[in-house]
Amino acid sequence: MNLLLAEDDAILADALTAQLQGAGFAVEHAPNGAVAEYLLLKQPFDLAILDLGLPMVDGLTVLRRVRAASRELPVLVLTAQDSLDDRVAGLNAGADDYLTKPFDFPELEARLRALLRRSRPGSHHAELGQLVFDRDSHRAAVQGQPLDLSPREWMLLDLLLTQRDRVVTKEQIAQAWAVERSEVGGNNAIEVYIHRLRRKLEGSGLVIRTVRGLGYLLEAGAEPA
Ligand code: CA
Repeated sequence: MNLLLAEDDAILADALTAQLQGAGFAVEHAPNGAVAEYLLLKQPFDLAILDLGLPMVDGLTVLRRVRAASRELPVLVLTAQDSLDDRVAGLNAGADDYLTKPFDFPELEARLRALLRRSRPGSHHAELGQLVFDRDSHRAAVQGQPLDLSPREWMLLDLLLTQRDRVVTKEQIAQAWAVERSEVGGNNAIEVYIHRLRRKLEGSGLVIRTVRGLGYLLEAGAEPA
């Protein structure tokens, strides 16, 4: 989980960064609004914590510009005082939640996790066509029939589902398997796994399309005859 923390109070920022990292987030810190805006428009983040009282460009302006650029990441706004105006302005500018300083870290963490759950519904459980894919129980089924997937097939399908309607490259597949592409046995091995997975997905209504020179694409659509 990549998180941007925009906070100009260095002591608070350091403490939060350490706590967030401890909670499993990869944290990028922006000490002012200009850096926050630059990073948010340039990099994909899963989540942002935005202090409203930021130097150079204030938090509300950053938020409005990020939303104007239709960046849809979940944003939690930090307000310095318990000011109703600030909270309303933050929510109007597109914040998903807010927290008033001072706050306890467990409350921040709980709110961040709730935002992530809301922004990625079904991230643990996917139902697409006739396929059910459940990451928690590590079970997959097509038309109610359990799918017997090897670990590599599981990771491949997981990746294709996560990136569905976007091309998955062979590099990404090798990365997901945590192996060098050369160790996989090159492109042929990946093609063999894709072939096996296609067979297993028969009847699911899902098609793994080869995008020549790029990779693979999982599409929900008509079953090829
Ligand atoms: Ca501040």
